[in-house]
Amino acid sequence: MTATLNDWRVTTRPYYAPQADEITLFEAAYAARLPVMLKGPTGCGKSRFVEYMAYKLDRPLVTVACNEDMTAADLVGRFLLEPGGTRWQDGPLTLAARHGAICYLDEVVEARQDTTVVMHPLTDHRRTLPLDKKGELLRAHPDFQLVISYNPGYQSLMKDLKTSTRQRFAALDFDYPVAELEADIVARETGIATALAAGLVQVAAAARRLKGHGLDEGISTRLLVYAGQLIRQGVSVRHACRMAMVRPITDDADIRETLEHAIDAVL
Ligand code: ADP
Repeated sequence: MTATLNDWRVTTRPYYAPQADEITLFEAAYAARLPVMLKGPTGCGKSRFVEYMAYKLDRPLVTVACNEDMTAADLVGRFLLEPGGTRWQDGPLTLAARHGAICYLDEVVEARQDTTVVMHPLTDHRRTLPLDKKGELLRAHPDFQLVISYNPGYQSLMKDLKTSTRQRFAALDFDYPVAELEADIVARETGIATALAAGLVQVAAAARRLKGHGLDEGISTRLLVYAGQLIRQGVSVRHACRMAMVRPITDDADIRETLEHAIDAVL
């Protein structure tokens, strides 16, 4: 294990409240070294879950936030020009495959399809990664696992996973936790009272019902945690809700008003 990868270890146990049997199922997938896709809306706990699993399985975690400018070389690696010549530098995917980390490609659909195909040979029985520029065929370390996250809500004709990519992963469905659990999570993450956290969750439930009726996506658990953190900083409940739960998700005056009413009614 290189010093570099030791830096990627999750050293303190992340707090993760399970929604169902995802921990056992992920452990089984890891034992079989299956690539896993975590599906669900943004801010519902997917990244926290991966951190928790990396800690539990005692594997370093290499996370890549995917974006459309990302190239295959950004994942795989490239030669760097140096005064004395050139030096190869592994990209995050190569680093993880070489040293046996979990590689988490967050929001993979943001990456262009010609970028994501480089992971294909790592996802089947070959478990290899051709480093064409370097002339190396890397065989993945036995402990390596590939995990991707995918938000089905953002699916579009322009941006979606190729079927040939999709069919290489076992998948787990995630969603916002049920109300009682979500209130516990928000209270635990922020230190606000559970009753107040339950109120925030109720407002979120109202917003989530507007999905498809003017809202693309409801208020995420992440935003509820932000609201709780602002409240802990002494911001009034109303201002905190406005700042963390209303303004980020919509610019539509009518929807903002509807959400403000929900806040007034609940809190
Ligand atoms: P995603 O990766 O789905 O976009 P995150 O994992 O970053 O979302 O979750 C956002 C935040 O919500 C986390 O930082 C954490 O505070 C909280 N959270 C959501 N679900 C859970 C959970 N099941 N257990 C603990 N914290 C959670």
